[in-house]
Amino acid sequence: MRLVLVGPPGAGKGTQAQFIAEHVGVPKISTGDIFRANVSQGTPLGLEAKEYMDRGDLVPDGVTIEMVRNRLAEPDAITGFLLDGFPRTVPQAEVLDDILRETADTKLDVVLELVVDDDEVIRRLSGRRTCRTCNHIWHVDFDPPKVPDVCDIDGGELFQRDDDKAETIANRLQVYAEQTAPLVAYYAGRGMLVGIDATGPVDDVTVRAIDALRPFPAGEA
Ligand code: ADP
Ligand code: AMP
Repeated sequence: MRLVLVGPPGAGKGTQAQFIAEHVGVPKISTGDIFRANVSQGTPLGLEAKEYMDRGDLVPDGVTIEMVRNRLAEPDAITGFLLDGFPRTVPQAEVLDDILRETADTKLDVVLELVVDDDEVIRRLSGRRTCRTCNHIWHVDFDPPKVPDVCDIDGGELFQRDDDKAETIANRLQVYAEQTAPLVAYYAGRGMLVGIDATGPVDDVTVRAIDALRPFPAGEA
């Protein structure tokens, strides 16, 4: 299955991506995770992306699209994938369609929208913590680890993302409204969008997501 998750920052895309990808049996590809890995390794891509990420702006399409094109060409992504955080602009969505057509003569099966209001998103982003080693996502109140700042899964150190500061969150929500929300209409117009209520416990949202995906069988490889 070729699947895209959309929704505002903090909607729970990363949290759900892990469970959904495992359920569907495809790799999870998160552009935010790839950028953050490049930033922490100090690669040229990371150095270029960092200034945009720190402001809460989108990394330019040219840079982002090449990164995704390379990732989708890796063997594990040939027969299916779950994209978390890409596409985030209509031009990115158009190029994704082109990449799939040119490289595999295929297309996306479905785009799943996680619907959450701004107040909930702000509560989620302000308390988000991420494991430095396994990238698992926690929340200080809604999904706390047993020991504060230590990942239950691998004992890794938890950190707060630089772009989860209040002023950056405000810009990210504005960027989402201006540049990413139009994607919802883009995919709805193509009959590819299914939206779910992404509020309530994480497990409930996962069940809703898997139910919503049931009518969308995977396309041909
Ligand atoms: P996104 O990838 O869309 O930016 P995340 O998956 O990183 O969002 O989730 C943002 C924060 O909200 C994290 O701290 C996560 O633990 C928390 N979270 C995710 N889903 C829920 C939920 N259903 N209820 C409460 N908090 C949640
Ligand atoms: P995320 O982890 O999805 O919240 O992404 C963190 C940051 O990485 C974003 O605020 C952007 O700066 C950058 N980023 C991630 N995905 C994209 C994308 N598809 N296009 C442009 N920038 C992106």
